Amino acid sequence: MRIGQGYDVHRLVEGRDLVLGGVKIPYEKGLLGHSDADVLVHAVMDALLGAAGERDIGYHFPDTDERYKGASSMKLLGEVVKILTAKGLKLVNIDATVIAQKPKLSSYIEEMRQNIAEAVGLDKEYVNVKATTEEGLGFTGSGEGMSASAVCLVE
Ligand code: MG
Repeated sequence: MRIGQGYDVHRLVEGRDLVLGGVKIPYEKGLLGHSDADVLVHAVMDALLGAAGERDIGYHFPDTDERYKGASSMKLLGEVVKILTAKGLKLVNIDATVIAQKPKLSSYIEEMRQNIAEAVGLDKEYVNVKATTEEGLGFTGSGEGMSASAVCLVE
């Protein structure tokens, strides 16, 4: 068994779509980034790469590479799973948390779980997604950005 941990942050800006766990969520702002800036999926990808001892997403999908401009993070997650599979590693489960003051995410959680589960080839039961606010504290609390963290187990 191997454990992996991932963490990511993106800034919230006007004029961008908000995509979390592959779900486009109606909100006045979106996350800024080279790809679709899906902070949740980025944390999950880093957890998987961490468990595999395969560095991080910046190493595999550099933001200087035009191929990844506007890229669907869900597609990149599929690429990460291929890296694990090539090493003979099998994903057991994922547990992730999105930290965002706004908007309310509870009604989108099940769809996020389903999207991630499909991308990594797991049953939804083995992909948990949580959301929390940060009680108005710090950059997530002020709505300046969102962060996400994730852990996973592989065997
Ligand atoms: Mg990121």
